[in-house]
Amino acid sequence: MKTIALIAHDGKKDAMLDFVRAHQDILSRFRLIGTGTTGKLIQEHTGMPVERMMSGPVGGDVQIASRVVEGHVAAVIFFVDQLDKHPHDPDIQTLLRLCNVHNIPLATNPATAQLIIHGDL
Ligand code: PGA
Repeated sequence: MKTIALIAHDGKKDAMLDFVRAHQDILSRFRLIGTGTTGKLIQEHTGMPVERMMSGPVGGDVQIASRVVEGHVAAVIFFVDQLDKHPHDPDIQTLLRLCNVHNIPLATNPATAQLIIHGDL
């Protein structure tokens, strides 16, 4: 089973829940991993199992980046809030950078995420 990583900044967590609910049938065919709070919300609101890393600001993005580097992640869906500041911005940039270095499909908004999960992952 392939893995999809799910991460959402606080201002985008509702959008992530909407996205997961709307695509639950497709997402249930994948193993899901996520940052701490995003993963917890998805589990609570959809019942879908998510392997939870640490919360983003204390290293969760880096943990997911490590899985990407190891070749364990088929796609990263990371809803970024561009209207807010993030103390862990260096970690966020690391994750985005390593997806690009390793050519891993990366969606930073719901429109792209929808295209990715309907694609041939
Ligand atoms: P969170 O982390 O899911 O623990 O809130 C997301 C982030 O801010 O990177």
